[in-house]
Amino acid sequence: MPQAVLVLQCGNCQTHQGQLAKTTASWTCKICNQKQPLNNVLFEGTGKQCREKVQQLNMQRGIEETQRICDVHQQDENILRMKLEDEHAEDSKPQHY
Ligand SMILES: [Zn+2]
Repeated sequence: MPQAVLVLQCGNCQTHQGQLAKTTASWTCKICNQKQPLNNVLFEGTGKQCREKVQQLNMQRGIEETQRICDVHQQDENILRMKLEDEHAEDSKPQHY
């Protein structure tokens, strides 16, 4: 069974992002490094589902916010995706989706 990934929204920079489900009650924003309580889980699923959800949520919030993460053109979404996967790799053992 693949490890669950949570979709969370940072209370500081408002960015949606995926975090591996952990036993700890706090998490750290990948964008602004704000540590915060794990009390606002928007979605839970596989890494792939969560990445799609995160993209969708950030897109719904408009281009300005998306640009804050990464200057977004089509191409840059791949960079962001790679960045998310890098973070995940640090969080736990490498996984294949
Ligand atoms: Zn943040």
